[in-house]
Amino acid sequence: MKFPLRSTVQIGRYVVSQKGVERYPLVLMLEPTLGCNIACIGCGKIREYESNKARLSVQECLDSGVQCPAPVVSICGGEPLIFKGIEEVVDGFLDMRKSIQLCTNALRLSDMLDRFTPNPRLTWVIHLDGMREIHDYVCNYPGLWDVAIEAIREARSRGFRVTTNTTIFKETEVGDVVEMMRFLEKEVGIDGMLIAPGYQYSQIDPNLTMTRAEHEDKFRRISVEARKHGYRWLASPIYQELLRGERMLPCTPWGSITRNPYGWKGPCYLLTDAIFPTYEALMDGMEWERYGPGNDPRCEHCAIHCGFEPSATLATTSSVKETVRSLAWTLR
Ligand code: SF4
Ligand code: SF4
Repeated sequence: MKFPLRSTVQIGRYVVSQKGVERYPLVLMLEPTLGCNIACIGCGKIREYESNKARLSVQECLDSGVQCPAPVVSICGGEPLIFKGIEEVVDGFLDMRKSIQLCTNALRLSDMLDRFTPNPRLTWVIHLDGMREIHDYVCNYPGLWDVAIEAIREARSRGFRVTTNTTIFKETEVGDVVEMMRFLEKEVGIDGMLIAPGYQYSQIDPNLTMTRAEHEDKFRRISVEARKHGYRWLASPIYQELLRGERMLPCTPWGSITRNPYGWKGPCYLLTDAIFPTYEALMDGMEWERYGPGNDPRCEHCAIHCGFEPSATLATTSSVKETVRSLAWTLR
């Protein structure tokens, strides 16, 4: 199975319970800190906030989970493992029966594993942008790939669920991504791999990121290999079709809601056009229809998970045929 049964059932129930609600989030993207212990060349977050060291408190983190009904919390940033009290945040969300994606560059992971207990609702999401050479280059940190691979092995040997998150840039060779998938699957052992195109926005060098046509070409080739070898690529069938250019989807920016030290921000994890003091103020106050390809030029080449996996989920639930196809993919 691609995802733990308990989480899959819980998310399905939540979606059914929202029938008739115009907009509702599936994922809370929580950024307890925007600081990081490395400086990747493609990271807009640390550049956007580099002169400001604001952090949420543990209580503010947990309050976000109370305000926002999303069943999944992606704890990202910044680097969550430099946030003091991260283990209390994780425990608090588990008590709320949320499914947690704890994102990390893995630099501190092996040292911090003792502070956490394996739980089917807790998944480590390790930043890995390819094999050794490209990953260390993108992260601007020689030796980080080896640290990350060792930490993945250690976490899995202790019974944690571990996945990876890969961003593909203009310079990324498809062969390198496919080799990374093979290596993780066959030589390391992994519970799944997220792969998405790097998105061009104001804080990132435009030379690093791809146009829609460029990423579609790369994802067509990645898809062929992933299917041929049965790699555990965690992209729903409809999202895969978007990445390959076989269908268009509108963006669903309210499907993944971002909370950071400045407040509840919109429209999405990437763009900051407004910041609100509460979850409800964000949901009511954003002009959501202004965003997505065709509506805002900044969105034209975007196909990132946080905007389009919720769109894929909504498309899945809109027809029996799509629901069955998605279920078959999840169970595989
Ligand atoms: S590890 Fe993540 S937060 Fe840190 S610099 Fe890299 S992309 Fe940014
Ligand atoms: S398409 Fe959606 S997720 Fe992408 S930048 Fe625009 S609003 Fe954000």
